[in-house]
Amino acid sequence: MANKISIALIGNQNSGKTTLFNHLTGSNQHVGNFPGVTVEQKHGSVLKYKDMEVVDLPGIYSLSPYTLEEMLTRDFLIQSRPNVVLNILDATNLERNLYLTLQLLDLQIPMVIALNMMDEVRNSGHYIDIEGLSKELNTPVFPISALKNEGIDELLQGIEVLSKGPAEKPWVDYCSGELHTALHAIHHLIEVKAQKQEIPVRFAAAKMVEGDEPMEVALGLVDEEKDVLRRIVELMERNLKMDREAAMIDMRYQFIDEVVGSVQTKQEDTIEQSRSYAIDRILTHKHFGIPIFFLFMLIVFWITFGPLGSFFTDGFEDLIELTGEFVDGKLLLYGINPILHSLIVDGIIVGVGAVIEFLPLIIILFFLLSILEDTGYMARVAFMMDQLMRKIGLSGRSVVPMLMGFGCTVPAIMATRTLASERDRKMTILLTPFMSCSAKVPIYAIFTAAFFSSHRTLVMFSLYLGGVAVAILSGWLLKSTVMKGNPVPFVLELPAYRLPSPKSVLLNLYDKAKGFITRAFTVIFIGTIVIWFLQSFDFKFNFVENSELSLLAAIGRSIAPIFRPMGFNDWRAATALIAGITAKEVVISTLAILSNVSELSQVVNVLPSMFTPASAYAFLVFALLYVPCLAAFAATKREWGTWRGAFAAIGYQTGIAWIMSFLVYRVGILFV
Ligand code: GDP
Ligand code: MG
Repeated sequence: MANKISIALIGNQNSGKTTLFNHLTGSNQHVGNFPGVTVEQKHGSVLKYKDMEVVDLPGIYSLSPYTLEEMLTRDFLIQSRPNVVLNILDATNLERNLYLTLQLLDLQIPMVIALNMMDEVRNSGHYIDIEGLSKELNTPVFPISALKNEGIDELLQGIEVLSKGPAEKPWVDYCSGELHTALHAIHHLIEVKAQKQEIPVRFAAAKMVEGDEPMEVALGLVDEEKDVLRRIVELMERNLKMDREAAMIDMRYQFIDEVVGSVQTKQEDTIEQSRSYAIDRILTHKHFGIPIFFLFMLIVFWITFGPLGSFFTDGFEDLIELTGEFVDGKLLLYGINPILHSLIVDGIIVGVGAVIEFLPLIIILFFLLSILEDTGYMARVAFMMDQLMRKIGLSGRSVVPMLMGFGCTVPAIMATRTLASERDRKMTILLTPFMSCSAKVPIYAIFTAAFFSSHRTLVMFSLYLGGVAVAILSGWLLKSTVMKGNPVPFVLELPAYRLPSPKSVLLNLYDKAKGFITRAFTVIFIGTIVIWFLQSFDFKFNFVENSELSLLAAIGRSIAPIFRPMGFNDWRAATALIAGITAKEVVISTLAILSNVSELSQVVNVLPSMFTPASAYAFLVFALLYVPCLAAFAATKREWGTWRGAFAAIGYQTGIAWIMSFLVYRVGILFV
């Protein structure tokens, strides 16, 4: 579609990009009152103008090369060259939003500005001189409210006029003083190279003043040129007594202050903002902020995993059981081949069922979390935890995925997408599985019943805490070895508190549920077939009744010695751990099958023949920390991007699991 008009939708986080995108294209992308919701690019045709295509890009504050989102957007703009940049601004926060606008102007791509949230501006009785702003920036400006669907038609007409007209490039000369001299000198120095590489010269010059390394590489400057460049910048820094980056920031804000001062009547807080300040005085209180947050999380977990959760899960379990029995009966009646029967009933229904069972929990958990997110509260949590997280080399943004890890690792790993830098993301992906997810609970429940019946709560609590402790240690370890570097500075403009919109919460839920079900019927489906196969056949591919003779048992026996140092050199335990890779609950069902008992509760009596209390605890530690389930592995692969990375991640986790389990056992046998 070469002759389509391509429009790049760009703006700060939370400026309303996705809301506008949905209006323009009629699609249903998730709108969240949490920065960083849009990470992937989304394309869509404009409903009213079939020849226009919009790309929704991640929210950014600048075009520096520090975060993945910024690099993505920048590369997209320079390489794909959209016909029009649609810069959306949050009109209630002009100063901050214009900072990005100035950099976009340097790119010299035809641009229109959509001044969003005009409804809030209006409600608060403020005034913005639209024409004045348009003149100052030499760019068409359209006041809109994406939420209330106001001004969108005019905006589209404006885009059409711009795209059909002569390719006028916006031009605002906002440089001043010493920087003016430096910028123009650099401009001349790099002009030819920049044109050859098809990089906008003004943009490149500004980036060279800032000391932007990727840009220097892209321009392909030779040593002499770099030398001249260095001297120009040094002279400027000396004269200004300011570091190069600070100088650029300072100059941009000087210009912005002038513009805003002349077009905006002195701004008081909007009603939403002053309400938010009032709420924040309590919720982000210096001392009570974090305790209040823990209280909220406690309530969320209590609702999810407490009475309400078990009410729904129990009903759902019965439903799955009935379905299983129904299918079982029908198949028997039909007289189906027993092997196929075993595959369907013992393999697929048990395996997939064990996972689907958790759907109600997932829905409740995400319902509650998306309310916290949509109101704007989660953004504040990330902000409060920043200090703490920095100590282990992460920023406050990693808090959200790590908390989610207590529920389920899969959505938690998916949530790492909201993190700004690749380093932070990968580190969080590595550490999140150490959080004790809900699927591990059945394992704890049965083992504590068998070995620690008088100290159950204490042992469970120690495992939860142990997971967190290992994550902290391991974060510190990674930070000081392979993942050196600092977490991205956490500049986060706190969004105003808003009532969550039911549509957005429902969309979010639908998204999560769909993803979960899809995984259950793809990865886990295949996984259960493999385990069933290994458990049902021997090396000669004969169907075996006694699983001791199966392929799985053979594999279990060959792996069991790995666990000898932890005191449980038993093929059934090893097999259960392998099977548990499909889903953690499977550890228990495998132990049940291999113990030849008819009921899960009887496993408690068999376990003491395989473990001592010390080795049982070592087993629990291993189960807590080793490879997350297949679904989590698939999510790791997806978010990490490469198979190599994903395998390295599970290798790392399993290594840590082995070491910790070993240490726990060795210390344990000193005491018991
Ligand atoms: P993005 O991060 O830029 O994609 O922003 P979103 O589209 O996700 O919107 C962020 C928040 O601002 C959501 O809570 C929206 O409902 C809200 N919002 C978007 N546009 C408007 C608007 O015109 N007026 C008001 N009052 N709120 C808006
Ligand atoms: Mg968005």
